[in-house]
Amino acid sequence: MKFRSTRSNTCVAPSYALLHGLAPDGGLYVPETFPEQVLQYKDLAGKSYQEIASVVLSYFFTNFTDEERDAMIASAYNEHTFRDERIVPLHSIDTDVSISELFHGRTLAFKDLALSLFPYLLTAAKAQEREDRDILILTATSGDTGKAALEGFKDVAGTNIMVFYPSEGVSPMQKQQMQKQEGNNVNVSAIYGNFDDAQSFLKRVFVDPDVNAYADEKGVLFSSANSINIGRLFPQVAYYVSTYVSLVDNGAISEGEIFDVVVPTGNFGNILAGYFAKKMGVPIGKLICASNKNKVLADFFETGVYDMNRQFFTTDSPSMDILLSSNFERFLFYVAGQDAEKVAQWEKDLSETGKMAVSAEELAQLRREFEGGWIDDGETEAVINHVYNDYGYLLDPHTAVAYGVYMNRRRQGLCEGRHTVVMATAHPYKFPPVICQALALPKHDDAFDELLEIADVTGMALPKPLAELRNKPVRFGSSIEKEDMKQAVLAFVDAIHGRA
Ligand SMILES: *Cc1c(COP(=O)(O)O)cnc(C)c1O
Repeated sequence: MKFRSTRSNTCVAPSYALLHGLAPDGGLYVPETFPEQVLQYKDLAGKSYQEIASVVLSYFFTNFTDEERDAMIASAYNEHTFRDERIVPLHSIDTDVSISELFHGRTLAFKDLALSLFPYLLTAAKAQEREDRDILILTATSGDTGKAALEGFKDVAGTNIMVFYPSEGVSPMQKQQMQKQEGNNVNVSAIYGNFDDAQSFLKRVFVDPDVNAYADEKGVLFSSANSINIGRLFPQVAYYVSTYVSLVDNGAISEGEIFDVVVPTGNFGNILAGYFAKKMGVPIGKLICASNKNKVLADFFETGVYDMNRQFFTTDSPSMDILLSSNFERFLFYVAGQDAEKVAQWEKDLSETGKMAVSAEELAQLRREFEGGWIDDGETEAVINHVYNDYGYLLDPHTAVAYGVYMNRRRQGLCEGRHTVVMATAHPYKFPPVICQALALPKHDDAFDELLEIADVTGMALPKPLAELRNKPVRFGSSIEKEDMKQAVLAFVDAIHGRA
């Protein structure tokens, strides 16, 4: 399998795309020929999550042998990295709707599913590309990605990771998760600034010739772990396939029966993986893209116009507070019938005017497979309250947005008798203040006290990573001025060099 850019026809090997992330023309890598309709239930039945992942990835990462791929998958998905041996268990709410639980990894967010495997894919690709410098992953985070990347890369040979987060811009729980990070190849810095300061600094570092030359001299190569990398995208296809198998096994649907999925969406990576699973043969009907008040995507699926010129809101579901979804370009590539010139023009419109539009025919076409929906914070809290009180099941705020969008569809008679799966992207205990608010529990200044309050009422045990967190020592407690970020990177480069 070769990968091509969404903006031109140049092709590269999977190892090259893994190591470099973005295509030189600014486009994203997609399979040169997509493996359409290759998966059938009878070939998947009885397989473990790991075996399903191996089948799915064999179509994309043809640069690895079966043995290499299976070894990486075994290192990524096991009893040390996931709290549930099924990896992605399916929870049945009632005969109409199930929840696919993507949050049983080390950081309790769905990003663990990709970031547990990605470091192995990246280091294997590095060897294939005969790259012998040490990799330094640089990441800016507003929450879940940074922690999941830290856990994924922690103590993986040949790699190092440095994470920057806005000192006042992450939840208290997320902050402690990062300040108390373990591992010998990790570094975390809070900055006095916002997420955009951190992000734009890193964008400059990646292209700064002096910084790159300095790193090169010390045997270090910069890389990133963001969700446009094929090594993060394709591992996510596996859980849509495993969800299908579980649905049939649970009797929620019969073999080959069509079901809909609702996905809480930010950068469009998760839902895109669902689209790919559908193309591979999983009988998904509608892919429903759920948004919070930052509803650029919901508006797009309604009107065909993607318009970022609007107010930005901070919401209860921070991982979905995004106006420019970085994986959306891959979706547009398929909307355009794989026409790279058209995609390049749309992306030009977006970068110059903050706006792009598909034609009426294209909109009609894509609406056969996709739909958008959104709810606000008040509704999100009401959904958490309702699902907990009626079904005894606690949703995190992101998953609650998706569940609320599902409830609205059902009320409008749009479900057509089909079973719906809501993709659950985070453990509810990652967001104690919102849960306390939704369940009308007393508030506390310390997030751990709120957690205990919630655990007391729900009887739901604290996941080990959170239970242990409170008493772990802070390793990275200081904050730096944003002007000092470059110096911090250079100092870490020196430390890596000194260790080698
Ligand atoms: C990252 C994240 C999302 C958004 O996923 P995308 O792939 O960026 O669309 C949703 N929910 C949670 C909890 C997340 O961490």
